[in-house]
Amino acid sequence: MSEELKPCPFCGAEAWLNDYEAKFGDMTVQSRCPQCKFCGCNLGYFPTKAKAIAAWNRRYQPPEDAR
Ligand SMILES: [Zn+2]
Repeated sequence: MSEELKPCPFCGAEAWLNDYEAKFGDMTVQSRCPQCKFCGCNLGYFPTKAKAIAAWNRRYQPPEDAR
């Protein structure tokens, strides 16, 4: 099964998964948005792609929820 990344909740851009060879402990995957790397929307590193995607999507708010 493969879950897809939702768009960035801040700018709507397609999000990225950084799949690093370099490791921070066991954390190798980072979900991030290429557009607003300075706005603080980037999440940290996760041990697996699935976790990085789940964390990103969990934070995603559908547009009709915006106020
Ligand atoms: Zn963004």
